Amino acid sequence: MTDVTFSSLGVAEPILRALAAENYTHPTPIQSKAIPALLAGRDLLGIAQTGTGKTAAFGIPLLQGLSVGHVPPQPKQAKALILAPTRELAVQIEESLRSYGRFLNLRMTVILGGVNQNTQIRNMSKGVDILVATPGRLLDLVQQKQVRLDGVTHFIVDEADRMLDMGFIRDVRKLVAYIPKQRQSMLFSATMPEDIARLVHEMMNNPERIEVAPQGKTADRIAQSLYFVPMPQKRQLLSELMKDVALNRVIVFTRTKHGANRVAEHLTKTGVVAEAIHGNKSQNARQRALDLFRTGKARVLVATDIAARGIDIDDISHVINFELPNEPESYVHRIGRTARAGGEGVAISFCDASERGYLKDIERVIRMKIPVVAHELPDLTEEQKRQMDEPRRPHGHRHGKPGHKPGGPRGAAGDNPHAPKKRNGSRAHWNRSRDNAGRRANSA
Ligand code: AMP
Repeated sequence: MTDVTFSSLGVAEPILRALAAENYTHPTPIQSKAIPALLAGRDLLGIAQTGTGKTAAFGIPLLQGLSVGHVPPQPKQAKALILAPTRELAVQIEESLRSYGRFLNLRMTVILGGVNQNTQIRNMSKGVDILVATPGRLLDLVQQKQVRLDGVTHFIVDEADRMLDMGFIRDVRKLVAYIPKQRQSMLFSATMPEDIARLVHEMMNNPERIEVAPQGKTADRIAQSLYFVPMPQKRQLLSELMKDVALNRVIVFTRTKHGANRVAEHLTKTGVVAEAIHGNKSQNARQRALDLFRTGKARVLVATDIAARGIDIDDISHVINFELPNEPESYVHRIGRTARAGGEGVAISFCDASERGYLKDIERVIRMKIPVVAHELPDLTEEQKRQMDEPRRPHGHRHGKPGHKPGGPRGAAGDNPHAPKKRNGSRAHWNRSRDNAGRRANSA
């Protein structure tokens, strides 16, 4: 937070009132930099991860720009278009804009895939000031001539790197072709891969570039720790960790949808209220799971990367990487779920021998070694031994890099100095050094 106030940045009174109601006393660094540039009409390239306050950074000037000298939208038109990679993020952006703009009289709607299009078409019939959309469904409706983009004056692409990961960049490019060249453009991305840099070059006009955290650097308010644990024992370790009441609002990440279901089922069986969200669930089921988690009725949300993208839930006490992501940037995104809006957070990762390659990639990107928690595992059960011998599907079938073969042989301790030492039936001491791990990790 800075000494600057929203008022000194030129934010108008009705928005100031809404921000006060949200308890936003001071702008975050990205807001202090972005708001004046955007109010002055500049294009903006924001290199920032979630949790920095980027939604308000573009949302406040957008609301202000649209409300000053407000001209009502034409039928089927949107004056501002915000593209988000996931349905949850789109919904969340709209909710945020509604609250920042609650004293303004602007019409907003959301267009998403996975739900019936008729309501969306109806919502667009009179036109809106702000449209938040995922690219696929929007392109579909534009091609059906149910939505017109020829009146767009403000264009925003959020989480562009994730759009790229999810294969949406082509749709984004196609949509850009429908939007007038004369417009204000903003693009936000946590990382700047070459494809995004090219898109920026194509769609922006001499943008103001704002970088709030060095690329790939993890938030240093997050205490990170790592458990080396064979895959068949991860669920057991998770249950042990969950005995600690400090883990009161936990997101557990898995790599696959199936894995998310299995972990949620396991937790539920052990008496921990858990909900799973992933791409195979209907939009309603996802929203229900999110609501249960948000209201504290579910203590754990088990999610895949894509489903969790952009979820904005405050006070997440712990992020647990049940499986390491095969893309190091996803690790940064995942742990960014905790320690939002100035809070502190804890991120715990489980690493199986087969995930050592992923770990190496992650540590290279975050430029630090994640502190390892020494612990002892109970003996493997016969069932677990059997699981370790089973061939597994290769990791990362979605984003897998060809030829990238992390780690050693499946389940082998390999060169892991913290591999299980006791195999003689003594009692488990899972969390012996957890206090250490809970402390802030130094980002070297
Ligand atoms: P974002 O990066 O936009 O997802 O925002 C991350 C979180 O910070 C959200 O929970 C916002 O409600 C919150 N937030 C954004 N700006 C501020 C601010 N100036 N003061 C306090 N909280 C904020």
